[in-house]
Amino acid sequence: MKTSRISRDTAKYARALSTATTAVADKTNGRAGKKNPMSSLPTTAEPSPLPKEEPDSSSSPLSSIPPSPPPVPAKKRKRADTTRDTSATEPPARWREVYDCVKEMRAEVEAPVDTMGCDRLAETWRSPKDQRFQTLIALMLSPQTRDTATAAAMRTLQTTPHLQPAGLTLSSVLGLSPETLTSLIQPVGFSTTKAHNILRTCQLLVKHHSSDIPATIPDLLALPGVGPKIAHLCLSAAWGRTEGIGVDVHVHRITNLWRWVGRGGTKGPEDTRRVLESWLPRELWGEINGLLVGFGQTICLPRGRRCEVCKLAERGLCPSATVRKKSSKKPQKRESPDLEDDDPSDHEKPTVPDIEDLLTTATTRKLRSRVR
Ligand code: SF4
Repeated sequence: MKTSRISRDTAKYARALSTATTAVADKTNGRAGKKNPMSSLPTTAEPSPLPKEEPDSSSSPLSSIPPSPPPVPAKKRKRADTTRDTSATEPPARWREVYDCVKEMRAEVEAPVDTMGCDRLAETWRSPKDQRFQTLIALMLSPQTRDTATAAAMRTLQTTPHLQPAGLTLSSVLGLSPETLTSLIQPVGFSTTKAHNILRTCQLLVKHHSSDIPATIPDLLALPGVGPKIAHLCLSAAWGRTEGIGVDVHVHRITNLWRWVGRGGTKGPEDTRRVLESWLPRELWGEINGLLVGFGQTICLPRGRRCEVCKLAERGLCPSATVRKKSSKKPQKRESPDLEDDDPSDHEKPTVPDIEDLLTTATTRKLRSRVR
């Protein structure tokens, strides 16, 4: 039995060699024989090799298996593997010393955020519900706006005759036209877009949240003009619950200067938030925003960082410190601003755009193009 099969195979092989397509026939035959020996057995008559062999091999169940695994480009896999992973990071060395040093400096000087931060602008004599609403409004006014301008706009809303006698409440804001609201919040940037978002938000609060502000991050994010930064800060300030870090341009910029988010840095505030939350102790999530915003307003300014008065530079704790060398040449024209004379809010224009700011800018561009 075995001998006859060998001889048949030998004859088949010889016949195959005599054809012009020998190579193809051998390949097909050999593969079928290896995977499924039964598939290579001839039936009754000996047909011509190639036409018969091809259907035989294709009828084998295994013949449908592709000859090689699905192509996965090696380059593609390599790229995926080397993509920056911002999901988890080890705590940076000496981070606690840095944190405590900043706290020490912040205790010595008052920053605009300490008195005019969005969590300080609600009227404290109002009901908790109204205070929550005012906090949300302050946060919605704040992107790309100095604390002083946000505070001025809030003060206008709280005292304007347009909203009296009820004052800054949900129901009274709903009675305003978009134009009136825009004019009332004029000191803030992108006032038209923000007025539109606030009025739409008020409608949604009435419709879906019993005229109160949402108490969850997803519900807050569903409101127009509310991004992750506002959502986390609002949940923390209005409901006393901290579920994430509110990362604005100051927090993003400064933690990148300290390399707290990896040597490669992060691309935007959302990446920064994810990395910080992966290692920063949770009990610090609520306070880090105010701490670093004030630090960014007074010492580590977006333009003209004041390394010469920063204790982090003095103690060798900041990898980005630039301390000026003493020179016999002409004094530099641009002196570092004096701590008392400087209006920190002048430096608040972000060097790294906020996600919400980018969205707002994009929306404004769209609106402008429609007007044209
Ligand atoms: S040393 Fe300079 S760069 Fe570093 S945190 Fe202080 S001011 Fe900012």
